[in-house]
Amino acid sequence: MKWQSLWQNLRRAVDAECHCGYTDGGVVGGFAAFARSALIALRREAVDVPGPWGARLALWEGQLQYYRQQPIPERRHLVEQISQNLSALELALSPQLPVTPPSAIPSRPVELSGKAPTRTAPRRAASSHNAAVSPSGPDRPLSRSSAGPGTEIQFLRGVGPQRAALLKKLGIATVRDLLFHLPHRYIDRSRLMSIAQIRYPGDVTVAGVIRAYQQWNPRRGLAVIKGQIDDGSGLLPIVLFNRKHLPAKYPPGTAVVVSGKVEFRYGKAELLVEEMENQAEAGLHTNRIIPVYPATEGLNQRFLRGLYGQVLDKYAPSLIDPLPTPVAAKVKLPSLVEAVRQIHFPESLEAAEAGRRKVAFNEIFLLSTAWRYVRRQKQGRIEGVRHQPAREELQRFWSLLPYTLTGAQQRVISEIEADMEADRPMHRLLQGDVGAGKTVVAASAVVKAVASGYQAALMAPTEVLAEQHAINWQSLLANMAMPVAHLTGSMGRRRREEVLRGLADGSIPVVVGTHALLQKEVTFRRLGLVIIDEQHRFGVRQRAVLKGKSEAADLLVMTATPIPRTLAMTVYGDLDVSILDERPPGRRQVKTHHVGSDAWPRIYRLMRREVAAGHQAYVVCPAIEDSEESDLAAVEERYATLSRNVFPDLAVGILHGRLKKEEKAAVMERFYRGQLHILVATTVIEVGVDVPAATIMVIEGAERFGLAQLHQLRGRVGRGDAQSYCILVADKLSEEGRQRMRAMEASDDGFRLAEEDLKLRGPGEFLGTRQSGIPVFKAADLVRDADLMEMAKEWARHWSEQDPELEAPESRELARRVRETFHGLDLF
Ligand code: ADP
Ligand code: MG
Repeated sequence: MKWQSLWQNLRRAVDAECHCGYTDGGVVGGFAAFARSALIALRREAVDVPGPWGARLALWEGQLQYYRQQPIPERRHLVEQISQNLSALELALSPQLPVTPPSAIPSRPVELSGKAPTRTAPRRAASSHNAAVSPSGPDRPLSRSSAGPGTEIQFLRGVGPQRAALLKKLGIATVRDLLFHLPHRYIDRSRLMSIAQIRYPGDVTVAGVIRAYQQWNPRRGLAVIKGQIDDGSGLLPIVLFNRKHLPAKYPPGTAVVVSGKVEFRYGKAELLVEEMENQAEAGLHTNRIIPVYPATEGLNQRFLRGLYGQVLDKYAPSLIDPLPTPVAAKVKLPSLVEAVRQIHFPESLEAAEAGRRKVAFNEIFLLSTAWRYVRRQKQGRIEGVRHQPAREELQRFWSLLPYTLTGAQQRVISEIEADMEADRPMHRLLQGDVGAGKTVVAASAVVKAVASGYQAALMAPTEVLAEQHAINWQSLLANMAMPVAHLTGSMGRRRREEVLRGLADGSIPVVVGTHALLQKEVTFRRLGLVIIDEQHRFGVRQRAVLKGKSEAADLLVMTATPIPRTLAMTVYGDLDVSILDERPPGRRQVKTHHVGSDAWPRIYRLMRREVAAGHQAYVVCPAIEDSEESDLAAVEERYATLSRNVFPDLAVGILHGRLKKEEKAAVMERFYRGQLHILVATTVIEVGVDVPAATIMVIEGAERFGLAQLHQLRGRVGRGDAQSYCILVADKLSEEGRQRMRAMEASDDGFRLAEEDLKLRGPGEFLGTRQSGIPVFKAADLVRDADLMEMAKEWARHWSEQDPELEAPESRELARRVRETFHGLDLF
């Protein structure tokens, strides 16, 4: 579907949703589901639109996922936000219209170069790369002329409106886009072979003279031309399929270079011609390492290569490397111009790869710098809370623990401590697999804050989780004489007012709660530390509201969703990341087995055995895409079977998204207290629930879950001392599905699995399911380029420390690109 109609449908849906009062009823089948799919489709269209549209759309997608769980004001806020941005989105997607000016980041006055440049063609401005929006200086060539890389592709020879439209599909609107459209592979046609040397089938390139042709029609509509080429060392039969025009272009007697595949038929070599060029002008399609580009229907490789032949020498030299020269001088990578040249006309495969790495380095460097810059603009001027070292209290706290901290816990705690002592507000993400021991890390930060005379607040996404945290923290901090209050939406008025008073006058140092903490009435005397658990359940805005209660407070976000290190920056760009990658010793591995559905009788026996031993079991039913109805049906069916037929003597509960909040809480509560033996549920139980007596997790239709989700679900068991089991029931498996099951059986290390998942599905899919906004990289390969990413990030950090405001002359192009490309990152 065209983006115009997608956009219009979305517009209508948004209006309807406003109209019906944010009940998710604006569209048949649900507004949120509809809008999400529209956004996903639009995101595809927006891939190459300048600005952070990809990230923004992805962010909304993510928020829409929990639309129904949100209170009405949150829904309204989201819908309004989308609504307000729709026009800008239309503008950004329209090739004919100028892009909205960067507004979010305070931009420095734009000095236009030279004498009053005439911006005659508004079409020009559509390309954000155009020099018209850039500051210029003495070292910047006046690339506003038609020879700049911002030139629209349509003005090239051989590119009319039709081909321009096709190129647009590939995300190519300007010459610059073309130059950064990278080949996805290469064919080595650089080495000429003499015909006498040809022994084996494979790709070859030979140079010789055409001897003769003869046409042959094996069946109607298929023309095969056979011929011969002679290079002095021998005669090689050649075959041209459907290339009727070639004999006329290269008649017998012409000296040509021919590339193609050699096959052997009845022991005789035969060359299936892929490319043929005149020897005099060979070098575009043959006789070199040939790039193969991601193409689209109607645009062939020859045409694309022809374009590069046309633009490279003319435009590439005026590309300006945004990498500051002092950094570029230290990093062992080719110059940008050289990199682009080697990417399209490589001297060797190594040179092409080096070129790609240079472009990838730039992408990562740019994004990383942008995050730092944006964050600085947002909070750089805020004087943060400076917490005390509080050595004594911390030592005492740790000495009272029944175990010693793992190396990873110690490392992460010191990272947090350093942030807390600094005068810049902390902004840190703590990633740790379930059971990694995040609680004690967070509690250490609380001890430090309270010992420094500040208050700390922890927000959890559900009442159940908040209660668990409250209980955990109360016992952890009891010895420290640090009372922990618990604030929920459902607590009595008297008690509630007591807590509010205590927070306001500072007599309560620590509070744990849900969204209830966000309410206006909740005020703190000296809030110094905000901790948010399971961040993906919270909107960015909620994070901001809680933080807003004290701008200077340090923020620690905890998540049990492991993201490979290489992706963390793209996903959590504005947060520093700490990783707890070592588990407390002595933890038993959850025994994990993949079985077919014929194994149910055995599963029932296992469940009965465990329940008899005083344990509990989860049975999770598959989420069927886009259909809450059948979702529900599956759970209800399994519940009926278990409660009526299989375990009529046991207490079986059911939990799904259609239940009211209180109903859900009540069911969880009963399971938590051991009043239910078996809980049949949809994935609503996914996050953070801790029932130590639960030892079996049965996942039905396991093929429908991604690795990350399977791992999350498995994390619900194995939390006590007893041996736990995870049974994956799946019948029809794709190859990838089989690998997923195998990975689950082999490992229960969340980070290992996340890496595996990333490899299996690639970053797009991996992040897609997580609904995170990520800016797209074209050259950087998040899997292969881990080392490069580290290096580029390190250099970005280094440079941002040297020139935080990007004011140095060496930062000029960098600053321009950061503002231009990432002016909306402030959404995060
Ligand atoms: P999560 O990261 O999932 O929040 P928790 O903080 O709940 O993990 O810790 C899981 C369990 O491990 C808790 O029972 C906790 O007491 C225990 N634990 C934490 N750190 C250690 C350690 N260093 N040694 C032994 N047990 C630990
Ligand atoms: Mg936890």
